[in-house]
Amino acid sequence: MCSIIGYYGKENASPILVKGLKRMEYRGYDSVGVATESENEIKLKKGIGKVNEVNSKVQLDTLPGKIGIGHTRWATHGRVTELNAHPHPSNSGKIAIVHNGIIENFEELKKELETDGYDFKSETDSEVIVNLLQKNYEITKDVKKTILKTVSEIKGHYAFVAMFENGQLAAARFHEPLIIGVGQDDFFLSSDVLGFIEFTDNAIYLENGNFVIIDKDKFQVLDFDGNNPGYGITKVSKEFGDAYKGDYAHFTLKEIYEQNETILKAGEKAIDAIEKAAENIKDAQNIYVTGSGTSYNSALIAKQILSKYVKIKAEPIMSSELQFSPETIEENSIFIAISQSGESADVLDAVRIAKKANCRIIAIVNLLTSSLAREADIVIGMNCGPEIGVAATKSFTSQLVILYKIVQKISNNEITIDFKEFSKSISKTLDNPTKIQQIAKELKDISDIYILGRGINYPIAKEAALKLKELTYIHAEGIPGGELKHGPLALMDSNVYVIIINPSDSTYSDTLTSAREIKARGAKIIGISDIESNIYDYWIEIPKINEVLYPISEIVPIQLLSYYAALEKETDPDYPRNLAKSVTVK
Ligand code: GLU
Repeated sequence: MCSIIGYYGKENASPILVKGLKRMEYRGYDSVGVATESENEIKLKKGIGKVNEVNSKVQLDTLPGKIGIGHTRWATHGRVTELNAHPHPSNSGKIAIVHNGIIENFEELKKELETDGYDFKSETDSEVIVNLLQKNYEITKDVKKTILKTVSEIKGHYAFVAMFENGQLAAARFHEPLIIGVGQDDFFLSSDVLGFIEFTDNAIYLENGNFVIIDKDKFQVLDFDGNNPGYGITKVSKEFGDAYKGDYAHFTLKEIYEQNETILKAGEKAIDAIEKAAENIKDAQNIYVTGSGTSYNSALIAKQILSKYVKIKAEPIMSSELQFSPETIEENSIFIAISQSGESADVLDAVRIAKKANCRIIAIVNLLTSSLAREADIVIGMNCGPEIGVAATKSFTSQLVILYKIVQKISNNEITIDFKEFSKSISKTLDNPTKIQQIAKELKDISDIYILGRGINYPIAKEAALKLKELTYIHAEGIPGGELKHGPLALMDSNVYVIIINPSDSTYSDTLTSAREIKARGAKIIGISDIESNIYDYWIEIPKINEVLYPISEIVPIQLLSYYAALEKETDPDYPRNLAKSVTVK
């Protein structure tokens, strides 16, 4: 979580750092800070809040100097306070760092450093790194030796950039992302290419367990044993710099509206990979599909469509749970990992477990330069462009399209899907938001909402609940229709709203019966269906289409409903509280 950034060059560092942080704010955003080096002195400013807020209060972008580091924090250790915000200076004030991740042995290290006379001003684990760097630098008097010694002493997942008073920058990466932007006369160190894409599209994706030292005489990449591992420069797609809201009030709204196009683009550049994935799945003894949050809901749908349309059994696995039962993964299986960013720590850990069991990894991922893409055997790009809104929208529907395309391939194209026609029907929903906006007003003061669906529509009920929780902070729960009588019916009364997902597929009449039972208890019913019914207090019409596509056409109006309800509740739809887009910590 969080973003780190560093700059070494000929321009004033602080405005560049602030710009980069602003573009990466989606990663984590409770507080922000910048430090620069000027005339052999480190200067530092930080504060609580969004980049723009803090910048207008303390003018982060006026710090002098051509070398600097910056950070937006998503707190893991210690409260959201100014003192806990990064950068953190060492006791001597001669080194400062920004850190992304978690130092697992920080308590032990802190005790040792306290015994050595160091005192700690923050509650963070990160401050341990900077004081350890100071201690090791005082012993070794050499940045390379200092980094080698420090990384051998800290345990955990981290990426950090350290700035030394003498104008040297050093950055290390261990299971957290760190990318180097290589400009004409300058270097950028960043958690995401968005941090520097405006300035250069040449990037070095630092390998795990590598670090870099930059000073006026050298640019050096080394591994944690001190060897020279070599590196390659990649041209980054400029498209990823295209992260602007345009005419939309929020990224989330823009991304919802892009879906009529992104569903056509999904997997478009990965036809061979989809074919290969289909062949591998066809031949496999065991297939697992993993993801976290929205991507896990895609995994649930993958199970349903693989069994329904091509009679293939696949087991969905919640990535964060696999560590507790790694033995369930059979050797030499197919392991499909789904992640928008390709940096979710839980998904990457699950992949590592699968690799240990010799599984073949198929990644469905948006960022093709991500850790997941690099660890996978077959990579299928979602191709939906940057998704900045923290709540996943277009990446979810792209994931589903890719899964459909894989199933189509397995069936030797017996399943026909007219994606172009479908895209038109999605446009229809998007072009008529008035009714959804009216329903959103009704949701303003409610505290509970339930979403009911059966069969393939149940994962959509779960995804709908996730969107409502993330965007509106209303307690929302997805219920499988058949389970209503086994518990949730006790919750139904006139204060409750229930969304019934009821397309005209094989679940239709059973779901309508559930809706009747709920209505009899006084709850308000919002029906999402291609067929109108007087049971619904509000009807959101979806097009009558090929039933394989119902999940996508159901989720789009719910994304819109969640977005408009967030506006009614005056929450920030792009940056929900306590959440971050790319969950790179466990
Ligand atoms: N563990 C550090 C903290 O709580 C860094 C968290 C982050 O990745 O933002 O300050």
